[in-house]
Amino acid sequence: MKVMKKVLGTVLIMAAVTGAVFAGGKKEQAPAVQSTGNADVDKIVRAGALRVGVKSDVPGFGLLNPDTGHYEGLEIDMAKLIAREIFRDENRVVFTPVTAKTRGPLLDNGDIDFVIATFTVTEERKLTYNFSSIYYTDGVGLLTKKAAGYTGLKDLNGKTVGVAQSSTSRKVIEKGAASLGVSVKFLEYATYPEIKAALDSGRVDAFSVDKAILRGYLDASVGLLPDTYEPQPYGIASKLSNRNLASWVDGLVTRWLGDGTIKALIAKYDL
Ligand code: GLU
Repeated sequence: MKVMKKVLGTVLIMAAVTGAVFAGGKKEQAPAVQSTGNADVDKIVRAGALRVGVKSDVPGFGLLNPDTGHYEGLEIDMAKLIAREIFRDENRVVFTPVTAKTRGPLLDNGDIDFVIATFTVTEERKLTYNFSSIYYTDGVGLLTKKAAGYTGLKDLNGKTVGVAQSSTSRKVIEKGAASLGVSVKFLEYATYPEIKAALDSGRVDAFSVDKAILRGYLDASVGLLPDTYEPQPYGIASKLSNRNLASWVDGLVTRWLGDGTIKALIAKYDL
């Protein structure tokens, strides 16, 4: 820690000195930006706040609590820890609610620095985004009406499953159905509330996505089927060109996996 303080102090002084030289001996000085030694992280420092895309409807991960008006969950705490690391202030983070469909474009446009939003790491997605080490692994499930009496995917032959656009769910269920010799149809929606409404009104017979997400849509008339289809490992995503940022945040996640921080957050939210 002492060494780090010294390094930061030195960089600060250098910034001030350089500023004076560039100003040609005039009185103006460059703002004393504390360089972190990482160009991508320095950009966030200069911006004054960290911008993170999170879920607003996933209990335990990213939930905008309507009673408090604040975001809460494991992924929210991770974003705050990153802000604390950069600014020594966990409140210097601006949250943007994202869906499976919007999170990639928001990263591409540079509107957000990270996505921490139940984003499954896949080989295909690694070609488009940087992902950190895995901080949690969920699994794909099915939500159905209790009154329908379904017990598993095998009961859904000829039925329609509602899935989110740009999510992994369709491929996973297609594969699971094929292995059971059943054929299911799909309807794709932009958001989860739309799929739940479609389930309630009978336009779809099942709602499929990660179980963590489905838990946010439980009510008296619907239930989660017991089976889990394919693991969904979550990582922090960043824009592909921000390699420095990706390796820096991966260093943090790796540290948190090693020192029990992630384990404690998983216990805190009972995940
Ligand atoms: N985790 C899955 C995915 O990344 C489900 C979609 C979502 O996170 O909303 O595709």
